[in-house]
Amino acid sequence: MSKNELLVGMNDKQTEAVLNTDGPLLIMAGAGSGKTRVLTHRIAYLIQDKQVLPWHILAITFTNKAAREMKERVVNLLGPSGNEVWVSTFHALCVRILRRNIDKLGYDRAFTIAGTSEQQTLIKNILKDLNYDPKTYNPRSILSSISNAKNDLQSPAEFIAKNESVGNPFIKVIGEVYDRYQKELHRNQSVDFDDLIMMTIQLFEQEPEVLKYYQDKFQYIHVDEYQDTNEAQYRLVHMLGEKYENVCVVGDADQSIYGWRGANMNNILDFQDDYPSAHVTLLEQNYRSTKTILKAANSVIQNNDERRDKNLWTENAVGEKITYYRAQSEADESRFVVTNIKSEMNDNHYSYGDFAVLYRTNAQSRVIEETLLKSNIPYTIVGGHKFYDRKEIQDILAYLTLMANPSDSMSLQRIINEPKRGIGAASVDKLVTFANENNWSVFEACQNVELNNELGSRARKAIDNFGAVMTDLQNQVPKLSVTDLTNEILEKTGYLATLKASKTLEASARIENIEEFLSVTKQFDDAHPDSEEAGSALVDFLSDLSLVSAQDDIAENTPEVTLMTLHAAKGLEFPVVFMIGMEDNIFPLSKAMSDSKELEEERRLAYVGITRAQKKLYLTNTFSRMLYGRRQTNPASQFIEEINPDLIDAVNSNGRSTNGGGLKTPFDTPNNRQARFANSSPYQGPTSHNKKTSSNQSGAASQSWIVGDKVSHKAWGTGTVVKVDGTGENMELDIAFPDPTGIKRLLAAFAPITKE
Ligand code: ATP
Ligand code: MG
Repeated sequence: MSKNELLVGMNDKQTEAVLNTDGPLLIMAGAGSGKTRVLTHRIAYLIQDKQVLPWHILAITFTNKAAREMKERVVNLLGPSGNEVWVSTFHALCVRILRRNIDKLGYDRAFTIAGTSEQQTLIKNILKDLNYDPKTYNPRSILSSISNAKNDLQSPAEFIAKNESVGNPFIKVIGEVYDRYQKELHRNQSVDFDDLIMMTIQLFEQEPEVLKYYQDKFQYIHVDEYQDTNEAQYRLVHMLGEKYENVCVVGDADQSIYGWRGANMNNILDFQDDYPSAHVTLLEQNYRSTKTILKAANSVIQNNDERRDKNLWTENAVGEKITYYRAQSEADESRFVVTNIKSEMNDNHYSYGDFAVLYRTNAQSRVIEETLLKSNIPYTIVGGHKFYDRKEIQDILAYLTLMANPSDSMSLQRIINEPKRGIGAASVDKLVTFANENNWSVFEACQNVELNNELGSRARKAIDNFGAVMTDLQNQVPKLSVTDLTNEILEKTGYLATLKASKTLEASARIENIEEFLSVTKQFDDAHPDSEEAGSALVDFLSDLSLVSAQDDIAENTPEVTLMTLHAAKGLEFPVVFMIGMEDNIFPLSKAMSDSKELEEERRLAYVGITRAQKKLYLTNTFSRMLYGRRQTNPASQFIEEINPDLIDAVNSNGRSTNGGGLKTPFDTPNNRQARFANSSPYQGPTSHNKKTSSNQSGAASQSWIVGDKVSHKAWGTGTVVKVDGTGENMELDIAFPDPTGIKRLLAAFAPITKE
């Protein structure tokens, strides 16, 4: 591809940014203006036209998915040499650096990465040990304080010293726990997420030679979403770029949404102070969204005081108005989403993959998920930990982690009695004490348990057995692929046999998940046929998995509706976007409503959400909703009010406008707003939702159903209705289909079934 081809269709500013390769460069621009695209083309240009060797280029993205996509694009532009570019997240970059060098900090290179559940177990153990009540000292909030300290690059000693004068007893305890926590992690040869970056910086500070090696390696550095870097990430980029100063960062201060995780918007605003020779390029043309969507986004963000004004415009069409629906309940809201997905697909030939449903908090996904399930619409939840948080998957991962790193006592404790082996909590406590007394890992304590006099003979025998099985498995690690090792574990530990014996529905679901996990290991094995070092495949596999971030998805092939939080949506785009739960107290969060700084961050999040939409945006909320076990009634979100009413088409559940195509009345007070919207969507009766969709979508709603009815379904064949619940649009059918489908619960109104 020639230089000109790389620049085809780029506007002047974008071209300038691609060609400006030497020295520090800041690309500051609004959403959808091609920042990420420019980065990709710039990398291709460096290699192709500037003869920079691909391995001298580093690109840091916010998620693994973004990294994969960027790499794919570079390879498409350049061919296989693009594979040599290091494109990764901050965390993945640091794992790679630490795997080669962490021994210089006194750690084993096969270190494991502690996930949230291990971190919590560890904190709970420490609190117990130090005699602090976990009710007073909430483990989660302690962990978040520790995380903040690490993001600010404070070691335990520094944290303690810094807070000494404060005299706050709570902070004192945090300091003490933080100190112990680091020691315990070290003993387990384990690091947490924040350590990955902090320890890389420590390594660079302590070992100038290592730093120099990476400075010479990464002569051209790129960072996407720079507005969301925290202090530690900022330092890392600064250290790496110090020698050549070819640092190109791109971002949008209006999309800074990780302040709560220590991100510092000033990193982007101060870039010119950090690099006085920096060149700054502003991109102003948006290529993603319709004029209507862009206007809405601009009008919302303009309400923030702490920002530099910019002029984001587009040549795209005006497009459709934004549809706004105030539902009666969360179920009504979900039905509205499903109805409109179906009608959009029908009218505009979209596929499921063209839709995203965005919400403020993960807890809001459940209702929409249920409605999608029952309507038989495929969906995926990004970052909802649908899969990896399941117990059986966590158990297997703990086994594998222990195989990779026998020092990891947290993982060992998770599975020592899983499946049940008669090793109760009291015995585990004694075993841990025994390990501590001898300065052993708990694994070593298991291997030497016959020396222990405290444990009863039965427990001792059980532990001895367990130790023997684990040792035997561990010896096989160098010889086996990850899949074979997993199968061995499932068999030798009796894990699978126990599930099979239990014959419950739950157990069979767990077995299915394990099978799914084996397809993940298989994929990995296929992609890594020959690992250089014995056992390194397992370590790499576990690293990959622990880096699956909140925004990363497992399956990407089949078109599915995407459900995710607004945070996870950063950088992505979808033709049709639903932002649900647009209510004060939910979005913005109630705690942000009285704090102007937090409110501004919520508003930036609204800006991120709105600008994900390419063609059509839906905003919904509900008059009353059940959330966290409480029913609440909230006025419409103030962010809706901030959108020019002429851009909005408020509809009732029929899909008819209730505002003649525009919100004419100003709705400036919550009361006013509430009155304004309270009547907009009386629930219109059973079949009203389907009026907008054509009749071939589903005739099932208007029919009556009784147990025993036969139905046919395209994919699942002929089934029998075994249960009917509810009426009208709420009618749910349990239908027994032939194996392997089994019983499915479907919403009669939406399911693609016909009566036979
Ligand atoms: P965000 O702030 O959301 O991360 P961004 O600034 O990174 O957005 P991109 O994702 O790079 O924007 O681009 C937005 C969309 O516009 C993409 O679909 C991209 O392919 C398209 N695009 C960018 N520049 C051009 C161009 N010059 N011509 C055509 N399409 C473009
Ligand atoms: Mg981007």
